[in-house]
Amino acid sequence: MPEARSFETLPAPQPPADLPPLEGHSFHGYRNADGSVGTRNLLAVTTTVQCVAGVLEFAVERIKKELLPQYPNVDGVVGLTHSYGCGVAIDAPDAVIPIRTVRNLASNPNFGGEVMVVSLGCEKLQPERLLPAGSIPIRDQRTGPDVVCLQDEKHVGFMSMIDSILTQAQSHLERLNARQRESCPVSELVVGMQCGGSDAFSGVTANPAVGFATDLLVRAGATVMFSENTEVRDAVDQLTRRAATQEVADAIVHELAWYDAYLARGQADRSANTTPGNKKGGLSNIVEKAMGSIVKSGSGPIHGVIAPGEKVKRKGLIFAATPASDFICGTLQLAAGMNLHVFTTGRGTPYGLAECPVIKVATRNDLARRWHDLMDINAGRIASGEATIEELGWELFQRMLAVASGEKTWAERWGLHNDLVLFNPAPVT
Ligand code: CA
Repeated sequence: MPEARSFETLPAPQPPADLPPLEGHSFHGYRNADGSVGTRNLLAVTTTVQCVAGVLEFAVERIKKELLPQYPNVDGVVGLTHSYGCGVAIDAPDAVIPIRTVRNLASNPNFGGEVMVVSLGCEKLQPERLLPAGSIPIRDQRTGPDVVCLQDEKHVGFMSMIDSILTQAQSHLERLNARQRESCPVSELVVGMQCGGSDAFSGVTANPAVGFATDLLVRAGATVMFSENTEVRDAVDQLTRRAATQEVADAIVHELAWYDAYLARGQADRSANTTPGNKKGGLSNIVEKAMGSIVKSGSGPIHGVIAPGEKVKRKGLIFAATPASDFICGTLQLAAGMNLHVFTTGRGTPYGLAECPVIKVATRNDLARRWHDLMDINAGRIASGEATIEELGWELFQRMLAVASGEKTWAERWGLHNDLVLFNPAPVT
């Protein structure tokens, strides 16, 4: 396996021309006050610390059983629980990553601008530190987010805490329930592309079809993120060459160099990425895996770069720097503002998120046959000659618009939800 390409010898950007505009496509979404658009209408409850997770889970179950049936336009209730908030070096430089991730998660477009927070009281990540005034768009900036603090003296007994959370949830649910889907241009989509459980077909069938759909989305003015640092690192020269400007190329190198140093600090070996399943599926090493992985980014110029946990602020093709871990990448793409997720897999994974629909694309006919009620699209038909990359790309594009408009994915139908997992490169105490 060759060493990863040095950052010193990278070619200057020679970006391809911007792709021709694509018009005439739309979807039905929920328009938010800040201009963003949701593909789902969810009540999300932010947490400042892991200590409250059990209480919130109890409250969310009650909200689902007792309140949700009264609000049929609301798709669900999600507790944004995580492992951060206390027992951490909160002023360490890298702590900015988990903190801004939790902060930006709260304003994901699928949550309608309604921000509710459950706090313990004694944690390091106080609500004012998590959500300082003006840090994220909140429906009513004057009052700030609604906070239920479990250690508040007014709470006598567990049920008092639960009642407080349910009472606050009610006003948010009423407003969310009054919303309706309206026709929105494709440019309002913020799509996160990811792969996991990859095999040798990923780079031949599913990822090229995703890349074709990425080009269609970018042509229609949407935001498309590709990520997974360790799975683009060995193709860095291809990415910097496609950077729209030198500034974008420098930002790609900055993020990947930072990640190299992070991996070196933990003495990660060069074979840390590629799993036993990847190898069994025919991927011999990370270099080969990266060549197939970056195909998800399509063929156009790369317009921007964001660091882990940052919110994406422009349209076009964006490199959102994240670890390749499925759950961490998904969590960071949600924080960036993702309202639709596309996930390719060759070995098969039942991955799903409660916060955003996940369209899963199988790389092989055999997987699509066995997992017929888990995989949404079968890109194996490219390998068997039943469809072209272009046909599959268009099929995926049309399915994305349908799912963005409310059609349920298999993971949604079964209610398969992976945990949010934060990227915390800072010390714990
Ligand atoms: Ca992944």
